[in-house]
Amino acid sequence: MDFAFTDEEERFRAELRAFLAEELPDWWRGMFVDDPRAIPFTRAFCRKLAARGWLALSWPREWGGQEASVWQQAILREEMWAHDEPRGPQYMNLNYIGPCIMRFGSEAQKRRFLPPMTAGDVLWTQGFSEPGAGSDLAAVATRAEARGDHLVVNGHKIWSSYADAPADWCFLLARTSASARRHEGLSILLVDMRTPGITVRPIDSMAGPHELNEMFFDEVRVPRDCLLGAQGQGWEIVTTGLTFERVGVARYARAGRVIALLVEHVKAAGLAGDPDVRRKLAELRVCHEAARLLNYRVISLQVRGQVPSVEAAIARVHNTQLEQRVGHVGLEILGLGGQLTADAPGAPLRGLLHRQWARNVPSTIAAGTLEVQKNIIARRGLGLPRAS
Ligand SMILES: Cc1cc2nc3c(=O)[nH]c(=O)nc-3n(C[C@H](O)[C@H](O)[C@H](O)COP(=O)(O)OP(=O)(O)OC[C@H]3O[C@@H](n4cnc5c(N)ncnc54)[C@H](O)[C@@H]3O)c2cc1C
Repeated sequence: MDFAFTDEEERFRAELRAFLAEELPDWWRGMFVDDPRAIPFTRAFCRKLAARGWLALSWPREWGGQEASVWQQAILREEMWAHDEPRGPQYMNLNYIGPCIMRFGSEAQKRRFLPPMTAGDVLWTQGFSEPGAGSDLAAVATRAEARGDHLVVNGHKIWSSYADAPADWCFLLARTSASARRHEGLSILLVDMRTPGITVRPIDSMAGPHELNEMFFDEVRVPRDCLLGAQGQGWEIVTTGLTFERVGVARYARAGRVIALLVEHVKAAGLAGDPDVRRKLAELRVCHEAARLLNYRVISLQVRGQVPSVEAAIARVHNTQLEQRVGHVGLEILGLGGQLTADAPGAPLRGLLHRQWARNVPSTIAAGTLEVQKNIIARRGLGLPRAS
């Protein structure tokens, strides 16, 4: 198996890098920083990507894409993650919300929801988790009750990223049948966040001031034509979407950039000859290469039309462990200064390691915890029975 990129793909990467060098302002540190410029910047950036046909690169032409290969798409994701994901919330539209609408939506829904995504005009939030339903997502209790032409939603969602951005739409998982078996009574609703009855409350956390939110739904009337797929098809849509989501985030690319910056730092700081520093950086490089190749393996299975759930879980476990190792080693190398935030005078690497550390913890939880990924590997990959 040869994972080398073609000359054309390498040219595309070079073009992207040149574009990023021109477009990313000096202050850009990624999302989840206490900086009011971040969301308006990501919106403007996505429109510029869209103008070049790069936003929905691999989507069908019919929906504004370029039908680029998944490998070109992988390059795009790598470059975005290596530069703190300047697409902001919109990576979700492109990685899984749009593809789910393409796969399960009616023609009218595709015409309504996909063009604003390819134009870079719309922010979505994901409303899956609840106080009593996280890893056990099928326990979702938010109800959507049929009343005339509407489904009326009542419930409480939690940990919704970007809801207060503010998001324009919510990809909402709700229970449409109390009597059906729990996986079968769920549906996906596409909810306009301006509908009366929705309250968004930010949750302050170590990941940043406005990453996470609670959402309360009180008699929220959602038109029936905003039900995605059939009533009761929610679980199938969610599992499809989560598989897209797990492979769509090139975490190793961000880790790779931090490793490169650490190497520059140790050279400049006269630490390059220290055997301990060299060994630690070499180990990081090994882990990074393994993470990259595990991701490419998942992509190559997708290209063949397979659903790589075990391989995606393996890649995700390795990727998040890589991020944690980079955080540990980075702090060891930078010492106490590594804990300084970006705005602190003299913060080494502009506070990069502090951010890396703060993101390490949630990255093992978001989109399914590592324990749940290991359960998938144990059951589906090793054929072990469910835990007793
Ligand atoms: C940064 C971030 C962003 C997020 N964004 C969103 C979002 O936009 N939308 C959204 O809907 N949700 C979002 N989430 C929520 C996320 O999906 C949940 O936090 C996650 O699924 C875990 O659920 P929980 O927090 O309820 O923990 P629980 O499910 O209560 O788990 C608690 C602990 O028990 C362990 N555990 C649970 N079940 C098992 C088991 N069967 N075997 C072994 N161990 C188990 C877990 O691994 C964990 O360590 C986000 C979370 C984070 C951290």
